[in-house]
Amino acid sequence: MNDRGQMPAAVELIRAKRDGQRLPDQHIRWLFDSYLRGEVADEQMSALLMAIYFRGLDQAELRSWTAAMIDSGERLDLAGAGRPTVDKHSTGGVGDKVSLILAPLVASCGAAVPQLSGRGLGHTGGTLDKLEAVPGWRASLSPAEMISVLRETGCVICAAGPGLAPADRRLYALRDVTATVESIPLIASSIMSKKIAEGTSALVLDVKVGSGAFMREEADARRLAQTMVTLGGEHGVATSALLTRMDVPLGRAVGNAVEVEEAVATLRGEGPADLVEVTLALAREMLRLAGIDADPAAALADGRALRSYQAMIRAQGGDPAAPLATAAHTRPALPAPQDGWVQYLDARAVGVAAWRLGAGRARKEDPVSAAAGVLCLAKPGDRVEQGQPLLELRTDDESRFAGASAALSGAAGIGDEAPAVRPAVIDRLGL
Ligand code: URA
Repeated sequence: MNDRGQMPAAVELIRAKRDGQRLPDQHIRWLFDSYLRGEVADEQMSALLMAIYFRGLDQAELRSWTAAMIDSGERLDLAGAGRPTVDKHSTGGVGDKVSLILAPLVASCGAAVPQLSGRGLGHTGGTLDKLEAVPGWRASLSPAEMISVLRETGCVICAAGPGLAPADRRLYALRDVTATVESIPLIASSIMSKKIAEGTSALVLDVKVGSGAFMREEADARRLAQTMVTLGGEHGVATSALLTRMDVPLGRAVGNAVEVEEAVATLRGEGPADLVEVTLALAREMLRLAGIDADPAAALADGRALRSYQAMIRAQGGDPAAPLATAAHTRPALPAPQDGWVQYLDARAVGVAAWRLGAGRARKEDPVSAAAGVLCLAKPGDRVEQGQPLLELRTDDESRFAGASAALSGAAGIGDEAPAVRPAVIDRLGL
């Protein structure tokens, strides 16, 4: 209430936040109700988002803000899954195909993994775009279908339905056009409202740090991770976070079909070391939060995880044995300027190249190419000879090579000594 004993007008809330005051719970609730009824205008919400960008939200405000976003839609009930539920969210990276391996892996160890995922925008790919490279596979499931796949196979990866935190969709569209995406409380509430509404009991966050990540600085990634861990706990979801490195593409494949192939190779026990390290660390964390004592490395080695993946793909209409799209054109790129060891390979540059080759989209309604992408033929720590290409570019449209190559200028460095090996997992926060 304001000093006249009435709910304040939106302009008073904007002024209060602009001047650095806190917004009480009932004002935040009123704001969301009025906004969703069309009584608060988009330009007022945009102004408030900008005020939050500069002034922030304290933990109590953030808790109310997130609760209002959750309450804008439905909250799924996953009791029908019949096993402990645990999910993972990644803040996104280049070559990040971890979900494709992790969901069936953790399911094969006895948990239920409900992964509501998104599509890619910009230089990081989306899990749904990757799986849509599998012929027949369907991303859109009704809540009843989602629970049925979860019961049958222990895991499901699908698009979040329109009923889940609909306020987030509207707010994100405003943030996108008002330069207010990069605000830790707004990012944290956006991610956590969807994950909490999804109904999972436990959640592990993979917060990526480095050139290819949303958060380039470790201190920012740590603040985002801690904010989300606290929000999860406040809303009854057991939450922890791993900070993982994203200076270099994860694994060797960046794109859609090419990442599905690498994920399946990993499920066969033939994955690259960095991808296996991150996937197993997340799997151990998920199983710990779910209270399941199992060894995910054994499930990867003995084919259980691969069988869960095949069952999940089939249950969603896909054919796990069908050949995947191949690109009409391939071209070697980034020749080593000298003999030596690869010192670095910039994740963002490789992500932008894959995007320009057709693997990603610039606007959310654009289609993506299943076959386009980049294969990293050499990564940091590999020995190369002068002239040896470090990358292979793949596309359906030859005219895209020039833009992709331009993105790769200065993307790699070669030195005379092998670089120090750095672990992919930097730290763990939370429960
Ligand atoms: N992902 C989300 O879902 N929301 C954000 O605000 C940023 C990344």
